[in-house]
Amino acid sequence: MTDPTADVPKPDDRYTSRRLILRLWRGYLRRHMPMMALAMLFMVIEGSTLGLLSYMLMPLFDRVFVGQEAGAAWWVGGIILALFLTRAVTLMASRTILTRVAQVSSTEMQVDLVRHLLTLDARFFQRNAPGSLIERVQGDTVAVQGVWRTIVTGASRDIVALAGLLTVALLIDVVWTLAALFAVPLLVAPVALAQRYIRRKTAQMREEAALRATRLDEIFHGILPIKLNRMEEYQTGRFRKIVDRIVRAEVKITVSGTSVPAMIDIVSGLGFFLVVLLGAADIAAGDRSVGEFMSFFTAMALCFQPLRRLGLLTGAWQTAAASLERLYRLFDTPAEILPPARPRPPPAGMPDIVFENVHFAYESAPVLRGLDFRAEAGRTTALVGPSGAGKSTVFALLTRLEEPQSGRITLGGVDVAEMAFADLRAMFSAVTQDAALFDETLRENILLGGNAPAPDRLQAVLDAARVSDFLPRLPQGLDTRVGPRGSALSGGQRQRVAIARALMRDAPVLLLDEATSALDTRSEQLVQAALDRLSRNRTTLVIAHRLSTVRNADRILVMDQGRVAAAGTHAELLAGGGLYAQLCRLQFDRDPES
Ligand code: ADP
Repeated sequence: MTDPTADVPKPDDRYTSRRLILRLWRGYLRRHMPMMALAMLFMVIEGSTLGLLSYMLMPLFDRVFVGQEAGAAWWVGGIILALFLTRAVTLMASRTILTRVAQVSSTEMQVDLVRHLLTLDARFFQRNAPGSLIERVQGDTVAVQGVWRTIVTGASRDIVALAGLLTVALLIDVVWTLAALFAVPLLVAPVALAQRYIRRKTAQMREEAALRATRLDEIFHGILPIKLNRMEEYQTGRFRKIVDRIVRAEVKITVSGTSVPAMIDIVSGLGFFLVVLLGAADIAAGDRSVGEFMSFFTAMALCFQPLRRLGLLTGAWQTAAASLERLYRLFDTPAEILPPARPRPPPAGMPDIVFENVHFAYESAPVLRGLDFRAEAGRTTALVGPSGAGKSTVFALLTRLEEPQSGRITLGGVDVAEMAFADLRAMFSAVTQDAALFDETLRENILLGGNAPAPDRLQAVLDAARVSDFLPRLPQGLDTRVGPRGSALSGGQRQRVAIARALMRDAPVLLLDEATSALDTRSEQLVQAALDRLSRNRTTLVIAHRLSTVRNADRILVMDQGRVAAAGTHAELLAGGGLYAQLCRLQFDRDPES
């Protein structure tokens, strides 16, 4: 059973910082270790130049300025110049490697996420809006870049720099160093608080970003109803509310992130204050030289930048962790409808379709209650019934987009649950009401990633589907783009493209959901002619909305409340009166006998 609360993130010890970084390390960071080691080497060199630089102030003051030794200015100046050159080279080298690795690893995660999402059930996609999933794939995976670039490597460079600078400071005077650092323990509690706050706010902000993407998706997909109902202001207002909340959250996250380096500043100020007092006394007493004090002071001052950056990193990690948690929750969402462990081969030739006592409910309300029927191989079976009777659900179960709670569905004697997904789905061509076209060329929409067929076969398919009839009127023929969801084609044209697709697939079973929206008579005739060609030599299951379809069907199943209420030919059922006669009058809106 699905857990209805599954989408509400609960605090979960699977997603602690430690576990997140471990998973990330194993999944995406470890494989880049050699390159990262090289980048870190460059950063360590870059970081250590700071310590050396501050150390050089000692000879600069004591030997060049105060001692005025001959030639000392040359070698001291030369070393300082060399240190800067080293910094320039190592900076470029490490940034180049880091950027590449950060981009590559986040892209790897994006690809893995898309691959995983594609294994999930149809129902998952009903629960999770496209916009929100787009935001996760595009927005949250950027967190991986942040982890490599700023956190792992930035931290290592700054820690090395700090270690070097502190060594210099300790070498000069242990007491001064301890005095400078005395206030550091005061930081622990506020930093921990700030971290927790940032993690919570970021999680909220990412959720809002997902909502923003969902709104945009709905606005652009619903542009016609929005315009026709004059909802422009309303939609803009809703969008504005979401982005306002994002702005507030972003500001809070940044401010709390900066509070950590700010606290470090205060603590450092206190330390410096003490050091100045101590240093003044020591120099006055003649225990220390001005050069020593300048070296020490510079070393401590240079600690600032890396310390501040390390302070910011705590926030940066929490931001990344919030995104990572969302990503890993997705990765940890399993498919509910699984392929069989030991798949059976699909039936050969044209199969029959058998439903045996199938019970099914989407959430709790039962949709199918013991559905039993057999659709003969090579024949056309029409499904009719009032709206909501469960006709479309039959298609979903047959193709295993949904799984029945009980009962058996077989295709040529093989249980659909025992076939590999690829084998099962290769059995069907589906032509449904919304001929779901992609924003690609007509050719790509017909071939659907399959190999290009021989030209005469393609021509035969185009003729049979009556696509050839309108092809000459398209600006680039088969290479014309059909627009988002096929919006550049008319309803009848879209259906004929869908029929061409199905002919191209040449699958043994045809699932047909007739359009309810009326086509004009000419289009309808063309579509009908194309469909007749398509259903020849196939086991056809059709959700019928046209009188001509039910009349031509070999057998009609009248569905009502999740069961087959009656079955037979058009004439038989009409003679029996009841639901079928009633449906004919209502749905087909003509006298069925005429
Ligand atoms: P028909 O095709 O006969 O009109 P359907 O098979 O589409 O009927 O739907 C049967 C019932 O299942 C309806 O009551 C419908 O509201 C419900 N239903 C369909 N799809 C879903 C879904 N994805 N989630 C929840 N309920 C659904």
